Amino acid sequence: MQLDHVTYEVDEHVGVITLDRPEAANAQSPKVLDELDQAWRAADADPQVKVIVLKSNGKHFSAGHDMSSTESDDDLGMDFSTAEAHYDWETRHYLHYAKTWRDVPKPSIAAVQGKCIAAGLMLCWPCDLIVAADNAEFSDPVLFMGICGVELHAHTWELGPRKAKELLFTGGAITAQQAEQLGMVNKVVPLDDLVSATMAMAHTIARADAFALRLAKRAVNHTLDIQGYSASIDSVFDMHHFGHTRARVVTGGMPSLAGLTSMKQKAKSE
Ligand code: ZN
Repeated sequence: MQLDHVTYEVDEHVGVITLDRPEAANAQSPKVLDELDQAWRAADADPQVKVIVLKSNGKHFSAGHDMSSTESDDDLGMDFSTAEAHYDWETRHYLHYAKTWRDVPKPSIAAVQGKCIAAGLMLCWPCDLIVAADNAEFSDPVLFMGICGVELHAHTWELGPRKAKELLFTGGAITAQQAEQLGMVNKVVPLDDLVSATMAMAHTIARADAFALRLAKRAVNHTLDIQGYSASIDSVFDMHHFGHTRARVVTGGMPSLAGLTSMKQKAKSE
């Protein structure tokens, strides 16, 4: 596949995936998602790579899913024509990619700056660690679409129930400092130090034995799965699609896409 929006390179034992679509605030078209998945697969398959870093170029980490063809040069190629097609498409592309990246058996670190909106969370939450710039803000303001949050309902696990509810109910943002206090972020660094601090952490981790790292990651993720993480993610995804389908019945189509578009244009213009 021709990579137009993502670069992938290896720095010693660190595979570095960079989302490079700053002109669209790193909004995720289907092509972006496919390219990211290709880079994740390359990092997973390369025996030299022991740690994976995911970062993005530009002011903002990601403004979420790219759902407006007027914003994109890509052929969006999404089929939301029926409830069944919509469910199938989001299962294969949004949910499956996020779950697959979470389960890659190598430690991963996301470096987040600026705005991380809605599906932006589905890029950083699957990573094992998150380093945030001091200007990072995390939000999921999608209730206006009639849905209960983005497709990967990790909110409650990442933030705890009360802050998860506040994030969803208000549509407001959590700052990098608040995210660190909540345990969603490992550390906060000055914006100018984001990449260097993330790479330093990655190289430090890469000194450890690769298989021991794999087991340590599995131990934590398996503990979460025993507590219900994966089952709740799958269950709430179906709830999310009840929201889409109910909105479709009420409005005859995807509701409030104008609101989503204006939100992303605001992110791009800042
Ligand atoms: Zn959805």
